[in-house]
Amino acid sequence: MATLAQVELKNEVIKPERPLVEVPVIQAQDVHKYYDLGETKVHALRGVDLTIEPGEFVAIMGSSGSGKSTFMNMLGCLDKPSSGKYLLEGTDVSSLDKKQLAAIRNRKLGFVFQGFNLLSRTTALENVELPTLYAQMPKDERTARAKEVLELVGLGQRLDHFPSQLSGGQQQRVAIARALVNRPAILLADEPTGNLDSRTSVEIMQIFQDLNDSGLTIVLVTHEPDIAQFAKRTVVFRDGKIRHDDPVKNRPCAAEVLRTLPTIDE
Ligand code: ADP
Ligand code: MG
Repeated sequence: MATLAQVELKNEVIKPERPLVEVPVIQAQDVHKYYDLGETKVHALRGVDLTIEPGEFVAIMGSSGSGKSTFMNMLGCLDKPSSGKYLLEGTDVSSLDKKQLAAIRNRKLGFVFQGFNLLSRTTALENVELPTLYAQMPKDERTARAKEVLELVGLGQRLDHFPSQLSGGQQQRVAIARALVNRPAILLADEPTGNLDSRTSVEIMQIFQDLNDSGLTIVLVTHEPDIAQFAKRTVVFRDGKIRHDDPVKNRPCAAEVLRTLPTIDE
């Protein structure tokens, strides 16, 4: 069955399977999170309300310890709220069992982290193919999909390279391809440029802007204001609460910014 999103999206490679009726991708309602450390309790999220619609590109900012990663882990179904609700494409995640959560993570969510988390003895192509193992798909289709997304991030010529043979920026692009291979509804990225130099960071933001232009919803955590400006909306956390939520004005185009930056030999 073709969904609305599939018909509308021009980029075939990343088209996510979305419900026919448009619901917010993310709805967090009065979310609290406590970490129980025996003697003490850390109140990491203190009543977070946030709605993210399909096609948004949100940068989450805030100083260290403000709750960004805790919130992202919840969005990524890696952790549950202690109280409050989290709806992912209209589904209350707390109603799902472990198996259903794993399935949702695999099908609907793509993750990119600061450390690239690639398997070191495994080629770029094999790293990207891995998440497709859970989908019931013939081997040649899995390989074809992995190649497609690697080409999309500009690594079509590096399929057989091992992570150690790739620069940091290239490794992060492999990680992005891996996050995209199952055509997720959302890309969640926690400090994806944290280990990269400034030019390479902007290159990663160019990929994110291109993906977002093709319809992919992106939630990105960063503490760098320059990086947050490439998103369409910034949400600032402080002490486990949202303190600011603003559209980005005069958003720079990463491809144009790159033209003004000196090139670095890789
Ligand atoms: P940020 O990503 O903004 O730096 P975090 O979400 O990692 O913030 O942390 C928010 C608060 O929760 C901090 O006080 C942190 O020490 C605490 N915290 C985070 N993860 C854990 C954990 N697994 N166990 C206990 N406390 C935690
Ligand atoms: Mg963090």
